[in-house]
Amino acid sequence: MKDNFNLIEKLYFERICGSEEEHKARDIIVNELQVRGLKVEKEAFTIDGAKSKKSQLLVDGKEFCQVVSAVNSASTGGEGVEGGFAYITSYMDAFLQELKGKICLYHRRYIDENIIKILTEKQIGGLLLCSGKIDDDETEISPFGSKHNDFSKFPVVFIAIKDGDRLVKQMPQLVKLISQPERSEAKSYNIITKLTGSERPEEEIVFTAHYDSVPFSKGSYDNASGCAMIMKILDYFLDNRPKRSMRFIWFGSEEIGLVGSNKYVEKHENELSRIRLCVNVDMIGVTLGTFCAEITAEKELVNYVKYLGYEKGVAIETSQTIYSSDGTSFADKGVPAISFLNRSPIGGAQIHCRYDKIENLSRDSFEKSGKFICEFVKRMDESVAFPVSKVIPQNMLDELDYYYRRKKRPQN
Ligand SMILES: [Zn+2]
Repeated sequence: MKDNFNLIEKLYFERICGSEEEHKARDIIVNELQVRGLKVEKEAFTIDGAKSKKSQLLVDGKEFCQVVSAVNSASTGGEGVEGGFAYITSYMDAFLQELKGKICLYHRRYIDENIIKILTEKQIGGLLLCSGKIDDDETEISPFGSKHNDFSKFPVVFIAIKDGDRLVKQMPQLVKLISQPERSEAKSYNIITKLTGSERPEEEIVFTAHYDSVPFSKGSYDNASGCAMIMKILDYFLDNRPKRSMRFIWFGSEEIGLVGSNKYVEKHENELSRIRLCVNVDMIGVTLGTFCAEITAEKELVNYVKYLGYEKGVAIETSQTIYSSDGTSFADKGVPAISFLNRSPIGGAQIHCRYDKIENLSRDSFEKSGKFICEFVKRMDESVAFPVSKVIPQNMLDELDYYYRRKKRPQN
């Protein structure tokens, strides 16, 4: 049996979208495929890079704390903007206060669009968003905000939450913000390899995992683990030729909003009719965690996976839902999607920070989940007729609309 866990160790470094390191990770995965004698395609796409000139927050003319300009936020120019200071605690607070020209602090990293709308209308001078944990000695601040936030209307910077706390305690009369994010472009890549089915080559199953990580995270759990898992599935089917065709894709730039997979489904829209199911793996192999399948497909598949768990003696929690990962890009184009993951407990293995450590993963957990996933896929592949309907049920279509913010979830 091949050691696929090994790939997690090989990818154990920060792999921010568009960076040299993401490209290094791409080369590692490509090499893994080439040594297996497989033909590999690399598809490049362009993303917004994170670059900025020096950013500063000044209180009484002195530099107050570290600030990081948000990607795609408005610039203050080299002169900066000076204004009164305001602390916004909520939507209502933003609504109630006089904010014109003020530098506003909001205590979260991710911000509700409604607050952004109010702040735009109120013509604020700039926005400080908080990052990290209040009792951390050091906070590593990423320039990437939520994919859903539009920061083009005013300057936005991230600061450590403990500095936000200091600011509110001090309540300065006047602050000055200098933030100069630069428009830059970077290249990110999707990596694809294919196996041709022996009996039903016209039908396909696609396997997906993202290989990028967020700044400051070596991304072992999120998601070198998934990269290694689909490599394990690939190895299984290299030894046991599939009846249906299979496509394996390692996506770049998932962490900034499923960008790699979105680009892929757009570019290959005419091929999606052949794809019967997307099997995505994102965050697997932790020592402490619950094995789950999150399924955007008909309810029958949810029950099938649950029953297969009972049959095999594998505890797996199944649900019909949207999982925020690359399978969702396929589901949104009508391809049923199943994501396998290991959900870690609160206080256990972490993601999106420097604590995403390989020490929290285990070969045992990885192999156990892998065995089950291979069993599931084998059954799908060997089915006389493909069992999963190529239909996304209405409740999931609604959830996709909420996820992509095309519709608002009805209140009550
Ligand atoms: Zn992930």
